[in-house]
Amino acid sequence: MENTVLIVEDEKDIRELMDYNLRKQGFRTETARDGKEALMKIRGGKAGLVILDLMLPEIDGMELCRLIKSDPDEAVRRLPVIMLTARSEEIDKVLGLEMGADDYITKPFSTRELVARVRAVMRRYEAVQGTDAAGGKIIKADDLAIDPDKYTVMKRGRHLDLSAMEFKLFLYLVRRPGRIMSRDFLLDAVWGNESYVEPRTVDVHIRRLREKIEDDPSDPRYILTKRGVGYYFAENKAGS
Ligand code: CA
Repeated sequence: MENTVLIVEDEKDIRELMDYNLRKQGFRTETARDGKEALMKIRGGKAGLVILDLMLPEIDGMELCRLIKSDPDEAVRRLPVIMLTARSEEIDKVLGLEMGADDYITKPFSTRELVARVRAVMRRYEAVQGTDAAGGKIIKADDLAIDPDKYTVMKRGRHLDLSAMEFKLFLYLVRRPGRIMSRDFLLDAVWGNESYVEPRTVDVHIRRLREKIEDDPSDPRYILTKRGVGYYFAENKAGS
């Protein structure tokens, strides 16, 4: 269900604490002790957001996140995932293309941080689903066709699998061809007032977008970098 948070954590104390605190803040919750139980609940439509511990028995959090993000069902693929990690060195990997989590929380964390992150990720997700990013006719840009209503991107007739946040960022760039925007500017414009998002989140999302959109991500044609300034969508690619 839409506003239900699925907590996937094998450690009982942590799981119950998160469950208690999120419920207290008015969230509906579901819990799972391992990846198998989690997948069952996710595919049964019981989750609107997943908090996923990296360290799980059998299917670990990394594998589970990959399974969610590559599920044949689009509704499953689009589920926002917050990873719980013990070490900050794992962050790049967690947010990177390989796993594609939407956000992360480093253990140990406070209840306040947990609730703030869940709220922020849900808000972003809803903003992309809702009227914020949606509306308008299909935008054609060279080989790409971007549908703001269905939040899909097609490249030469092939569907590209963008996460909700990647799509929101991409649409923002596409609608402003040639305009160079700094990381801080994009953070404000696309992510909004979220105190927990770091500027490098923008870089991670840009990297992921290039991996998906560009023929050669190391020599991008669509999403360009102005060194020392920021990112922009190539002006000559924009069309109608
Ligand atoms: Ca664990």
